[in-house]
Amino acid sequence: MKRYFIHTFGCQMNVNDSLRMSEALSKMSYVPTPEADNADLIILNTCSIREKAEDKMLSALGRYRAVKASRGAILGVGGCVAQQEKDKLLKKVPYLDFVFGPDNIAKLPEVIARVQDARERVVETAFVDSEEYVFPRADAETSRGKVSEFVTVMKGCDNVCSFCIVPHTRGREVSRNFPEVLNEVADLAGVGVREVTLIGQNVNSYQGGISFAQLLLRTAEVPGIERVRFTTSHPHDLSDELIEAFRVQPKIAPHFHLPVQCGSDRILKMMRRDYTVEQYMERLEKLRAARPGIAITTDIIVGFPGETEEEFEMTLQLTERVKYDNQFSFVYSPRPKTGAALREKDWGPIPHEVKVARLERLQKVQRRISGEYTQSQVGLDVEVLVEGPSRYDATKRFGRTPENRTVNFEGDAPAGSVVTVHVERATPNQLAGKQVAVLKAPTVAPLPVELPVPLHVPAEA
Ligand code: SAM
Ligand code: SF4
Repeated sequence: MKRYFIHTFGCQMNVNDSLRMSEALSKMSYVPTPEADNADLIILNTCSIREKAEDKMLSALGRYRAVKASRGAILGVGGCVAQQEKDKLLKKVPYLDFVFGPDNIAKLPEVIARVQDARERVVETAFVDSEEYVFPRADAETSRGKVSEFVTVMKGCDNVCSFCIVPHTRGREVSRNFPEVLNEVADLAGVGVREVTLIGQNVNSYQGGISFAQLLLRTAEVPGIERVRFTTSHPHDLSDELIEAFRVQPKIAPHFHLPVQCGSDRILKMMRRDYTVEQYMERLEKLRAARPGIAITTDIIVGFPGETEEEFEMTLQLTERVKYDNQFSFVYSPRPKTGAALREKDWGPIPHEVKVARLERLQKVQRRISGEYTQSQVGLDVEVLVEGPSRYDATKRFGRTPENRTVNFEGDAPAGSVVTVHVERATPNQLAGKQVAVLKAPTVAPLPVELPVPLHVPAEA
């Protein structure tokens, strides 16, 4: 038996792609190892959304070079950096054995065989940009014991946000046919999964035979499924039909990740986001009216080329106005071949220290708002879907509220149960308390030994 180790960077799409890689490898008699040091095959599943992510992967590659030297491990790079750099990466990193893009995961066994048997250095980065694309199917058995899983509903992105490299690394949008999505959800529910997150770069523009709103409603009706989530959405595709789905179907979890990017209409236009702040607010208010109490999170970029102090302050004002549950905020990072990077000199690059100072100011405001939210929960009873033991204290349980707030609590309900927790304490990001009632038992018998709770990748890492 040979051992493999996958190092995953980036968003849920990559986390999910790594799972599909694991499934392909287990069919080749590879077994996973938690230590790269004793692996025979190391794969880095990479992210290129910001320069920092790319730097991190290059330094990890340097570390794994020693494993290759000491035990002859095979070393491969997949994901967005692989797609962006293609054969250039083999030239840049002479000890690398193979490079494969996100559309080529199904070819992994063939690629590895070519490296092992023919000692070739392989590059497989062709896009499959058409309805011919076959979405790798999750093997539900590997999800037994898990409570929450991702299900891919589409790939790629047809938008042209001027800062974003995704259309270059993930290609055009292709939606997965809805019966395939629903079959995968049913299989997952059959092994005890209670929550699914439908994922894609731009799920609102889903076109797999029914609308995205209908897909959510049909997913919520799959027996055993307790909560349905999704990510990520572009505000311009947030339809009335989707808002209506939130009103009529309580299993669609009351959390919406709606990336706004910034609070200035001028910058939004330069970003090619094609909505104004007021249009964004109008959608949001409609959503909040349909589902009172819904948690709203967002992504923000600070220091976009040409952003003035006043324009940055508009982002602070928007943050106060919306009162986001949470934000994922980033300093602008120029990416190769993107519109904003090509025009950065004309628009006026923002010095790094200014970007970082703006980010810190924004994050301070958001921490206060998040803290106010979580403090408002102290003393209340909240519903929690139990995922397993707490990562911080094995004597406690861990789960999440419908709004996606994490909760560590004293209790004994097995993974897959739905319980009521009385909230006693809160930090800006977490709630803590005591289990007071069990509302629902798991749908299948729990495993004799619970799986560790997976590290939740934030909405957009
Ligand atoms: N599809 C999603 C949307 O439309 O908002 C976003 C996907 S992207 C993987 C996640 C987030 O990364 C974006 O919302 C944006 O805030 C951030 N991001 C993308 N490109 C960036 C860049 N060049 N510099 C900094 N942050 C960036
Ligand atoms: Fe990138 Fe999202 Fe814009 Fe697509 S919609 S280009 S993934 S930011």
